[in-house]
Amino acid sequence: MNAPPIAVHFVPHFWEIMPESGVIAESPRHQGRPEISRYVPEYPWCVCYLMPEFSRQALEALRQPLEAGQVSIARANAHVTYPARFQLVAAMNPCRCGYFGDPAQDCGRAPKCAVDYQAKISGPLFDRIDLHVDVPAVAPDDLGRKAQAEKSEIVRGRVDRARALAAERYEKMAGGAELRLNAEADGELLEEVAAPDEAGRALLKEAVEKMRLTARGYHRVLRVARTLADLEASERVLRHHIAEALSYRRVVPGRSPL
Ligand SMILES: [Zn+2]
Repeated sequence: MNAPPIAVHFVPHFWEIMPESGVIAESPRHQGRPEISRYVPEYPWCVCYLMPEFSRQALEALRQPLEAGQVSIARANAHVTYPARFQLVAAMNPCRCGYFGDPAQDCGRAPKCAVDYQAKISGPLFDRIDLHVDVPAVAPDDLGRKAQAEKSEIVRGRVDRARALAAERYEKMAGGAELRLNAEADGELLEEVAAPDEAGRALLKEAVEKMRLTARGYHRVLRVARTLADLEASERVLRHHIAEALSYRRVVPGRSPL
């Protein structure tokens, strides 16, 4: 008997994620009959709107590729591992009514409305998301205003420079020759490249206790902090890099951040 494929539901017009490896996009376009397409390296992005509306099984299927950059599937006569490194961008309302944390309009059942709604995403899946950013509703006065945003090319230049710095660092290191990105650094190598200064270390220690960071969360904070330091072309990871990286960890509704 063939094992059923794990289905990952995404918005239409987006993508099919590594179907041969068992994780399949099943968009409404496919009407329940996922199309077989290609591996995820050709689809390095995944955008998932209204995350809590997807099935638990679909969301949980993302855990392994998010953590390991690969996916293993077991079939009757074979165990196969496929590369599956990708970037997940996901969006959700803070609670079912959508008003939790909105200064202009109260969520009538806070914080339970948010706790219940967010519980549709498992803790381990949240833990694998490095950057959590609250996006407040746009004030009516601001709706007609022209957005003051940096041009994408400028941001891209900054990102390219930070990536080049990281690649150069790994190239020079013993054991780092195969790495290009901070996201790929692990174990002792990560501890070495992302070792914070003394103040940063003290802050991280405090956060581990107060925010109850998991070991995975701890290492993810280090990777983000290393990247923030690279964006500033700073050789060391300093306290403010750690502080910013920590500010992107998820805050459980009703609990204070630190
Ligand atoms: Zn609500």
